[in-house]
Parts: sequence; structure tokens; C-alpha cells
Amino acid sequence: MASHTPSFFETVLSFFDKAADHTDLPHGMRDQIKYCNSIYEFKFPLKHHDGSIEIIVAYRVEHSHHMLPVKGGIRYSEMVNADEVKALAALMTYKCAVVDVPFGGAKGGVKIEPRKFTVDQLERITRRYTAELVKKQFIGPGIDVPAPDYGTSMREMAWIFDTYSALHPGQLDAAACVTGKPLNEGGVQGRTEATGLGVFYGIRHALTYKEDMEAIGLTTGVEGKRVVVQGLGNVGYWAAKFFQDAGARITALAEWDGAIYNPDGLDVDAVQQHRKETGSILNFPGAKNFESSGDALEYECDILIPAALEGQITEENAPRIKAKIIGEGANGPTTARAEEILTERGIMVIPDLYLNAGGVTVSYFEWLKNLSHVKFGRMSKRFEESSNAAMLQAVEKIVGKTLSERERSAITRGADEIDLVRSGLEETMMNAYDAVRETYKRNPGIKELRTAAFVTAINKIAVAYEELGIFP
Ligand code: GLU
Repeated sequence: MASHTPSFFETVLSFFDKAADHTDLPHGMRDQIKYCNSIYEFKFPLKHHDGSIEIIVAYRVEHSHHMLPVKGGIRYSEMVNADEVKALAALMTYKCAVVDVPFGGAKGGVKIEPRKFTVDQLERITRRYTAELVKKQFIGPGIDVPAPDYGTSMREMAWIFDTYSALHPGQLDAAACVTGKPLNEGGVQGRTEATGLGVFYGIRHALTYKEDMEAIGLTTGVEGKRVVVQGLGNVGYWAAKFFQDAGARITALAEWDGAIYNPDGLDVDAVQQHRKETGSILNFPGAKNFESSGDALEYECDILIPAALEGQITEENAPRIKAKIIGEGANGPTTARAEEILTERGIMVIPDLYLNAGGVTVSYFEWLKNLSHVKFGRMSKRFEESSNAAMLQAVEKIVGKTLSERERSAITRGADEIDLVRSGLEETMMNAYDAVRETYKRNPGIKELRTAAFVTAINKIAVAYEELGIFP
């Protein structure tokens, strides 16, 4: 009998079960956390210019209502299906719990290939999708707050905000109904690069632990590390760029239509430029093309960052992966069986539910900004500047030396929104890693960081449910 290949949601369920066995939660509570609370599948028509009608299939899944609002992106892809959206919604719950973002998890999806639609059609689809969510109360600042995901960006988020506002005239907090908005529409600085930057902060922090790095045959520090990135979308591009800026070498890059490599390093921005000009990353000057896109995953490197779609590292290619660290920028890139193989081979997998949580962390900051109706740093920037200046003046007096205007303004500068967002993200990623690592170290029975992350998340969610008192 042919063996059953688990679906994405089944994979997430199996990760959950494995972790739940390391908790002492009763079965009822386990099940309450595990399954999706609300699943909404709907269809609506799109009229083409020739008058023909196409039926669009869409979803919004709210996985866990232990905290409200629920939160998670909206994906536009031909591959979208109920199983995938359920899996992604569940991952959002655990992700928020791991990084202490006070939301439940959700995810949306529209089954379309965005490249095949005009901007006007995409706008109509997005506005209708939003209106359908409004009708069923699946969106709102205190209910369910979408964000960008694969195939969507700040453009779609602006349409969602506008549609929601039009249907809720005068609602003061309407901007908090969606995150990842453009800056002028209530977005926050630093949201675009947040997931990629979180991936960078997370791996950089893992690389500071000497004993952990020695165990997998790596030195500490980012500098000089060879990094391979799969997917040059919003997550992969920014992760690659932050690694490059910190002195790592990006030795291979993969996209859906092919992959390139250069052991001396690829300049990420130059590759992006080449892709803009030619439509593909292939044939980048100075680099070689791999025969197939998947070959990049098996290329010799220190850190492999799958930042495209789920199910990329499987039991088929896991035995040939040469990286020492796999940093999951995407959601669900590694299957359960592949992870077992990688763990046996001593490869460290830094799991998605921790590592790519930077996006939702900064979404949380954006939501807070929308509710407070004030830009981060507005009240404190000048005050910080003048107290820093007063302190500096006192020091100058004591030391008997005065600084130049440039030196002075570098020291006295007060924090802007971007500084605060980045420092909040960095702090979040470092603390969450330490909490997951602690669970991992304390429980010799736990073999993977993923299981440790799930255990950390599940216990927090159980506490929230207990506090709600729904299990008297
Ligand atoms: N789509 C992103 C994720 O998978 C971000 C979600 C959000 O910001 O709500 O984490």
C-alpha cells in the first residue's frame, strides 16, 4: 500500500501532538487548542471585460480565539486550499504565543494567480473579499486583523482598509482592521522588512551561543557565513540583504523559475535589479545557473533560509542538505519526516513559528499605533534629545572637552519610529529565542527546537484558556 503523504495541516497537527506529549495538559484542552475554531470558505463572482464571469474561491480561517483579535495574513495563490489556510492559521496562533503577541491565529487565502489578473481586477477581488469578511464579522480591529502574505502587499492592505472604512463610517479605530498598510494609510515604519529582519535577528542570536554552534560544527557570529536563500520575495530578499550587510556571503539564491550560485557571493540588490530587467534571476553576470531550482537547497553552505512556500525540504532531499542551520523564513518549509532526518544528521532547524514571527510582531506595533492614533516617538523624541544634550554638556564640562556638532547630534539624537520598531523587534526575537532554547535545554526528551517552540506556545495558550475560565 502506498504510504500517505501528510497534508500541510496534518503536518502541523503532528508537530502539535509531538509537543503536546511533553506537556501535562488534559486531552480536552489539547483538542481545544489544536483544531480551528472558525472556518469560512466562500465564493464570489468576478466579471471580466468580455462579460464572462469567473468564480473566485476564498477562505478565512480563525484558528484560536483564546485571545482577540485573531491575526494573520492573506495569501493570493493558485495553490490556496482549505487545508493550507487551516495549517497557516494554526501556525499563526503558535507564532503569536511564542513571541508574546497578544493575538489568536488566523489566515486568509484567495485561490488566484495574481500575475494573471490586472491591477483593476485585483482591486475588485480584494474589495469584494473584504466586504464578504465584513458581512460575516470575520474582520475588525478587535475581531480579526489581516496582513500581507505570499502574493499580497501593502497595496492590497490599503484596499482592505478603505473598503472596511467605507462600510464602517466614523469608526475611530478602523485603521486597526488590517496591518501592513502603506505609511500614509496608517502603516508603521519598518513593517515591510520586518519578517526578513526578524529572520536575521533570530539566526544572528542563535549564532551567539558558542556551545550550540560547536555542537553543529559552526563558529559563532554572522561574518563570513555562507548563506543560501530560497525565495526572493519580501521575506527572502530582506533576510538576504540583512545577512549580506552584516558580512555574510550569499552564495546561492533560488526562485520558482530557477536558481543561481557564486561561491564568492552574490550581491542581492544587483540580482534584484537583474530580475527586474530580465524577468528572472537566471543568467546573472558572474554567477552560474543551477540545473533546477531545488539544487540550491542542497548547495554547500552554513545557513539555508527557505523563504518561499511550504513543503520544500522533504524526506527526499533532506539526506543531501549540507547546511548546518536551516532558518525557516517561510511557513512550513520542512516536513515532519524531513525534520527527523535533519535532526539525526545534526542539522539545527530554527522553526518558522519562532523565526518568521517578526512580521506579526511589527504588525502588532502597527495595530497599537492605530489604536493610539499617535506615531511612535512623537511624544518622547525631543525630550530624549534635550536630556541627552544636558547629560552630554555635563560630561563635557567634567572632562573639559567639547565634541563637534556631528558627534554631538549622533549621541543626543532621540529615537524615531523606525528605531523604536526595530529595537522592539530585536528585543522580541532575542527573548523568544532564549525562552525556546531554555525549554529545549531543560527537557532532554525534546529533540528539536520546533518541539520546544510548540511546547512554549501551547503552555501559554492553555494558561490563557484557563484564565478565560471556559474549563471550570
Ligand atoms: N503573513 C505574515 C505571517 O505569516 C504576517 C502576519 C501578520 O502580520 O499578521 O506571519
